[in-house]
Amino acid sequence: FAKEEGKNNFQFYSQNTHSPAFERFFVEAELRHALERNELYLDYQAKLDFKTGAITGSEALLRWRNPGLGLVAPTQFLPVAEETGLIVPIGRWVMKTACAQNVAWQRQGLPPVTVAVNLSLRQLMDDKLIEDIRTALEASGMAPNLLELEITESIVMHKPAPLIELLARIKSLGVRIALDDFGTGYSSLAQIKHLPVDTLKVDRSFIRNLQQNPDDREIIEAVIAMGRALSLNVIAEGVETLAQDTYLREHICDEMQGFYFSKPVAPDQFADLLSKHTTPSST
Ligand code: C2E
Ligand code: MG
Ligand code: MG
Ligand code: MG
Repeated sequence: FAKEEGKNNFQFYSQNTHSPAFERFFVEAELRHALERNELYLDYQAKLDFKTGAITGSEALLRWRNPGLGLVAPTQFLPVAEETGLIVPIGRWVMKTACAQNVAWQRQGLPPVTVAVNLSLRQLMDDKLIEDIRTALEASGMAPNLLELEITESIVMHKPAPLIELLARIKSLGVRIALDDFGTGYSSLAQIKHLPVDTLKVDRSFIRNLQQNPDDREIIEAVIAMGRALSLNVIAEGVETLAQDTYLREHICDEMQGFYFSKPVAPDQFADLLSKHTTPSST
């Protein structure tokens, strides 16, 4: 029956079974083969410098297109990938692919920009992480300072000593570290001061309602001030409107990322964006 339905397998499953356990089982079974079946790919979302208007880098975002399930959102399959440990080989592939892609853009004559890769807790706990980072850099030939690893603030706040040591080792490779979804974990200036990080990435939830919500504006301004005090780069994620963009620019946020400038796009489209948004000196 599933075969008969062909490309509409997911409809079959979701309409005829109301069991989340079954869907979860199906997702897990399919995810086990996603890498070898080439069902995973990366989209890239631009980060823009407010001062120059140039693209400074991209964030690689994982996508999974399965014949039965269709396009599955990361928020749906990442928890499964994390629980099963599949995120480790998948994450290794993400890092390798993102670095290789970034070098490919340079070889096309585009200006060098950073590429950011997200890391989950499970990946940070894997004892081969450093080796995987090294391998991705060596295989691609990419300069280490063009790789940025995004780690959520909540992970860093809840797992202190050994994790901080790990971050320091990563940084000693020359790789940059950003605290993702920043502001949700209530880190203090004192805590951040001891972290080997380069960038604070203001969580989308504060950007979303900044016009309506004075508390959100306070938080954004506090993060920008924190960044300035510690000489860290501050980037806002999830910028969707001109009003948000203007506000952040006026409050001297360093960089922005969001649908207002561009959604995550395929490598060719990113190359196209990059060719149009470079600093005057690099063209
Ligand atoms: P994140 O790292 O905070 O990434 C930002 C998410 O916000 C992305 O969702 C992106 O598509 C979305 N986004 C960007 N700009 C806007 C905007 O202006 N408006 C709105 N509404 N959304 C925007 P996505 O791609 O679904 O990824 C969700 C999360 O999945 C990511 O959050 C990240 O934590 C995780 N993730 C994605 N790729 C990877 C990966 O390769 N490895 C790991 N471990 N996690 C990943
Ligand atoms: Mg991120
Ligand atoms: Mg984020
Ligand atoms: Mg987020």
